[in-house]
Amino acid sequence: APVIELDHVSKRYPNGFMALEKVSLSLFPGEIHALLGENGAGKSTLMNILYGVHEPTEGGVLMHGRQVIHRRPADAIANGIGMVHQHFRLVAPFTVAENLALVARGERQKMFRRQSDIHAFMQRYGMDLDPAAKVKDLPLALQQRVEILKALVNDSRVLLLDEPSTILTPDEIGALYDTLRRISEKGTAVAVVTHNVDEVLAHADRYTILRRGKTNGSGLTASCTPHD
Ligand code: ADP
Ligand code: ADP
Repeated sequence: APVIELDHVSKRYPNGFMALEKVSLSLFPGEIHALLGENGAGKSTLMNILYGVHEPTEGGVLMHGRQVIHRRPADAIANGIGMVHQHFRLVAPFTVAENLALVARGERQKMFRRQSDIHAFMQRYGMDLDPAAKVKDLPLALQQRVEILKALVNDSRVLLLDEPSTILTPDEIGALYDTLRRISEKGTAVAVVTHNVDEVLAHADRYTILRRGKTNGSGLTASCTPHD
């Protein structure tokens, strides 16, 4: 069953512009779902609805089959949704560990004061960053890893990534998807916005194409072994 669904979601911005029209989409645990579409198709709007930045004008968001209302990102985060923004929201002069501790809640906050626990958390996803490194000293691809870890800190069941590959070299894109695969294999539903069809065919399980705010195709890629 899907972790999260959009059910006939429409979004009209205050200026009257219809950015999404009756879009339905299901994210499944263990799958990498690519969201394709040209600039202005509505991809960011869709992600922002899942993440609680915007509320739908019509239609609903369901988690585990139940209607949820995310009025702000804090609501979405509390419901286990993590987001990797296109422009990282890391504190550059702080260390990797400090950045993770900033967003950790409850018991997790204590954990991110212990180097050994941070290492164990990273290794769960095949990452091996130095917790004491300052973010500003890391190359972009590694800063992105920190941003991904930050989105997962509070046990997210849904990981959203907004155009993560635009800043990466082809090798780094391969490595990114190796990481996303490890994350999805832990049962997290992964959704990636991208322009790159080759990347989708090589690495994603499922895709949805948006065109002018409407769904214009969806399906499984050849590499998919459906989990549901
Ligand atoms: P994408 O991420 O696919 O490029 P967006 O979701 O950012 O698309 O935007 C979809 C359309 O909605 C675009 O035409 C954009 O200009 C418009 N749009 C986005 N945000 C707003 C807003 N706050 N008010 C009005 N129009 C918006
Ligand atoms: P990104 O692709 O990183 O989401 P954008 O430049 O598309 O960045 O949008 C940045 C912000 O501007 C978003 O919050 C978006 O909703 C808003 N925005 C985009 N297009 C419009 C528009 N036509 N009118 C008003 N706000 C917009």
